[in-house]
Amino acid sequence: MTFEIVTIPCLSDNYAFLAHDSAEGVTLLVDVPEAAPILNVLEDRKWDLTHVLLTHHHWDHVDGLGDIMDHHSPQVIGAKADAHRLPPLNLEVAEGDEIKIGSHTGQVFDISGHTIGHIAVYFERDAVVFTADSLMALGCGRLFEGNGDMMWKSMSKLRALPDDTLVCSGHEYTASNAKFALSIDPENPELIERAAKIAADRADGRATVPSRLGLEKATNPFLRPDCPRIRAALDLVSATDAQVFTEIRARKDNFK
Ligand code: ZN
Ligand code: FE
Repeated sequence: MTFEIVTIPCLSDNYAFLAHDSAEGVTLLVDVPEAAPILNVLEDRKWDLTHVLLTHHHWDHVDGLGDIMDHHSPQVIGAKADAHRLPPLNLEVAEGDEIKIGSHTGQVFDISGHTIGHIAVYFERDAVVFTADSLMALGCGRLFEGNGDMMWKSMSKLRALPDDTLVCSGHEYTASNAKFALSIDPENPELIERAAKIAADRADGRATVPSRLGLEKATNPFLRPDCPRIRAALDLVSATDAQVFTEIRARKDNFK
């Protein structure tokens, strides 16, 4: 079986995810912004939490873990590079490692940039990748610890995955991301269409996360520094992809 994915809104704009296989009795939780909404879903579905993956050390991705551990006894997985600032881990992983969730195999990517040590995990058979605050729906995380070169390298790893991959990212920032994306790529028909759908979804209170990687490749400016239209708009026609990416990230920081 492939994972059943449940998206759980937490705090004001965070998402946690459950990946569940009922035949195997495994349930993976990705990030723990707060415990209550996650415990409610687990109780409703009568699922026993077997694994937790922490993508990075920021409080809004780990703070609920203590309360989860009062009710479940999952194996806790996180980056070896971040073990000193994450809650206690049962399994420390690094780029190239494989994580086994029952028969499901996840491939670990180092996607430093937002923080140094941020990881993503890609389950090929399930066609899902957990990206938290690196690649986001129509955006990417701020560069708190890394630089543009580093984040572009991380984004390039994710961009190489298949188009049908489901991108499970950490925040509902998509509506403001759409405004920025349109400001530098206003003539992209797929972006125009997506922005209209996002506005309608948000007006009705629907989540815009997760999203498909193929749509991100077509519309997310942070995956498109090689797009001639964007390069022309930024007056960076002959710059490297990393330089264009860095400029896009800087403009987003100052976008109102
Ligand atoms: Zn973060
Ligand atoms: Fe976050």
